[in-house]
Amino acid sequence: MINRKSRDEIKRMRHAGHIVALVHQKMREVIEPGISTKELDSIAHDIIRKERAVPTFLGYHGFPGSICASINEQVVHGIPHEDIKVKEGDIISIDVGATYAGMVGDGAWTYPVGKISDECQRLLKATEEALFAGIAQMRAGNVLDDISGAIEAVAVREKLGIVRQYGGHGVGHEMHEEPFLFNYKVGDHTLIKQGYAIAIEPMLNLGGDEVVVADDEWTVSTADKMPSAHFEHTVLATDDEPLIITQLMS
Ligand code: MG
Repeated sequence: MINRKSRDEIKRMRHAGHIVALVHQKMREVIEPGISTKELDSIAHDIIRKERAVPTFLGYHGFPGSICASINEQVVHGIPHEDIKVKEGDIISIDVGATYAGMVGDGAWTYPVGKISDECQRLLKATEEALFAGIAQMRAGNVLDDISGAIEAVAVREKLGIVRQYGGHGVGHEMHEEPFLFNYKVGDHTLIKQGYAIAIEPMLNLGGDEVVVADDEWTVSTADKMPSAHFEHTVLATDDEPLIITQLMS
């Protein structure tokens, strides 16, 4: 069952999304060579608590952080640690969730650390483009495959690997609700209706599609050790344009 969000639920979700956007605004500011992923986690945690929200990730299936911090070949679910520090030329994906008044916002962005290679720049640009191509299809009357296909088309054009085992998801009272959203076409003709909220999150690789999970049972990395990027917004289907939930509210 896919839940259609009520006006009140949307209001609370937008607040949660605003808090996620506040965290990203800060991440963009503080990410520089030498900062540890634990420091980034603490900063994110403090912002979320100060806004009277709950860090959605903390304790989720035992996850020990308020953010996922995934560097270079790491795709998603990297665990923050004081010994893990970013350096010039790295790319780092920060994924964060905030629960406000029972509703969840979920959003990720991949940041360059200092000056990065042209190839990494191309990866970031294309993965962000894939996210917004997917968002543009989040319209009542479209089907899930329209979003998946739009993401896939950018990846194919740029000859990037597409992570197959992970994807987008419905979001609302829980971080992970139905439906699952693939980042490539699978023939899913589930109709998108007004009030559906989906976290759209392409994960694209400079190399192949394959990923492996580390011994910590969380960190997902590319099998060929090539860099990976991840961009995510929580998006609502309306009777008009798609509404990005994880953005700053004026
Ligand atoms: Mg997500």
